[in-house]
Amino acid sequence: MLGATEAQLIAHDERTVPAEARERFDEVVRRRAEGEPSAYILGRREFYGRSFEVDSRVLVPRPETEHLISLVLELDLPTAPRILDLGVGSGCIALTLVAEIPRSRVWAVDRSLGALAVAWRNRRNLGVGERAHLIASDWDRALRLREFDLVVCNPPYIDRSQPSEFQPEVAAFEPSEALFAEEGGLADYSSLFAAISERASQVPLVTEIGRGQLEELTALASTYDLRPVRVVVDYAGIERVVLWQSRHNPLPPSPPSGKMPSHG
Ligand code: GLN
Repeated sequence: MLGATEAQLIAHDERTVPAEARERFDEVVRRRAEGEPSAYILGRREFYGRSFEVDSRVLVPRPETEHLISLVLELDLPTAPRILDLGVGSGCIALTLVAEIPRSRVWAVDRSLGALAVAWRNRRNLGVGERAHLIASDWDRALRLREFDLVVCNPPYIDRSQPSEFQPEVAAFEPSEALFAEEGGLADYSSLFAAISERASQVPLVTEIGRGQLEELTALASTYDLRPVRVVVDYAGIERVVLWQSRHNPLPPSPPSGKMPSHG
């Protein structure tokens, strides 16, 4: 912010803070005091060991979503897997997977052109462009693009009528279409499960879920012939990430236990 390193500041204590830098600093403090997430103010957030550009067109990447990455990395996927990410946002899920899984390819879709613009910058920054396709589409149409080996999704799932489920700053600053869903937070899962059972019923699906939603979602999934076959509990003790599979698929082998994100 001052355009000088700590050493330069110590070596040149005769220098004064330029008015412009002071104004920038005051602006940052003011925005933060109003509750704006620091990721938007700084324009970046770390996710699974990589830095992602973010702004108010996308959800700030959350640490609990890193469990989704860990679960996918434990799956027994074919070589060069084709992955579909429904709702790309900043691209943190799609681009992390493509960077972590050798020879994987990802098709990441979003209805929000603003989100796709942010994901586009992150794809360029991470240098994974040739294996990551960003597409403006709704979910149902995306599932018809081609065959996939895996579908991942962090849908909006917060029930707006339950203020205890989110912080006021989250609702004030982050894109509501990425956060809130009708039907008590379950509406997007209904469309997701319906689209999967109709178009990709044999493809494993990994989603993030909201606090306390596993039971209701399991009941909803069963009406589409899907069942949870693996559940990851986050560091707050909340059932957070679920692998869903058709009831007609065999259970996947047990995961290795206690694996942590290990990107260097
Ligand atoms: N986990 C986020 C939150 O609680 C919500 C993300 C989502 O709706 N997918 O703020």
